[in-house]
Amino acid sequence: MSKGEKGRFAPSPSGRMHLGNLFCALLAWLSARAENGSVLLRIEDLDPDRSKREYIQLLEEDLAFLELDFDEGGSRGGPLGPYSQSERGAYYESLFQKLDEKGLIYPCFCTRAQLHASQAPHGPEGDPIYSGACRGLSPREIREKEKLRSPAMRLKVPQKRITFHDGHYGEISQDLSKECGDFILRRSDGVFAYQLAVAADDAAMGVTQVVRGRDLLFSTPRQLLLYELLELPAPKFFHTPLLLSPDGRRLSKRDGDISLEALMKRGFTGEDIVGRLAFLAGLLDRPEPVSPRALVPLFSWEKVPLEDIRIPKGLFEKTEKVLLQNI
Ligand code: GLU
Repeated sequence: MSKGEKGRFAPSPSGRMHLGNLFCALLAWLSARAENGSVLLRIEDLDPDRSKREYIQLLEEDLAFLELDFDEGGSRGGPLGPYSQSERGAYYESLFQKLDEKGLIYPCFCTRAQLHASQAPHGPEGDPIYSGACRGLSPREIREKEKLRSPAMRLKVPQKRITFHDGHYGEISQDLSKECGDFILRRSDGVFAYQLAVAADDAAMGVTQVVRGRDLLFSTPRQLLLYELLELPAPKFFHTPLLLSPDGRRLSKRDGDISLEALMKRGFTGEDIVGRLAFLAGLLDRPEPVSPRALVPLFSWEKVPLEDIRIPKGLFEKTEKVLLQNI
């Protein structure tokens, strides 16, 4: 095993993984294995309200069903753990303090309703861009407001354009103060934000390549800013197209008939599913059963489409499987 590249799976156990998550996991696995690299599993259970223990176990079982093995993290453990974000609060706190000491953090008392009611322009993900309303509060105003509600903590985003090379989508550039605004590092309930935790963890765990869905493409400049401010090494990024349901929607738990559970019940093997995902990723000409290992020599980012991928109707139907076996 090369000590070089290290990829990762970073699922949130807020539900069972759907085909879109598994598509991304397959590409993350292949991207690392094609470089002779290792893979780690980190459980992104930051949000105690949304994370469920039962899904943590299931997600390992689901990865194993598809033969997506990992070398570190999850139930395997390793030297750079803990590998669950819910156990890493002290580490996030230390990085948060570092930014605070640099004078880069301020409390924000705006309510959700206030944030959404403002006529603020919206960023690439459709979220309102924070107006900076609480950036200039005096210490006295802060003390007064703290009596009424606990604040979220925001990072003062400098006027800066962040440009990076995505391994799949090419050059991506974002003017953070205009297109994103000051963003939250710690919620008002004390939970650290995804942006801080993910950057902190990828650096601490020695991850060299991050493969994840295109829906997080425009989170990357925020994370790159954090790497810079915290003087941490940034990984390379590869974003993947998203899988869409046959009627063109983003996959969700509502798509029960193509959930992994439903596919298992209908008798699909791990290789049946991997083969179909590899076909959708442009790695196979036909959706024939294959193991992830056998795909390694076929993998190249150039084959993977840039456009989101609509799952053809019938691809995950049992009749299709029978037909395919007769080809
Ligand atoms: N935990 C995130 C998710 O499940 C992924 C975060 C990442 O890959 O950076 O959507």
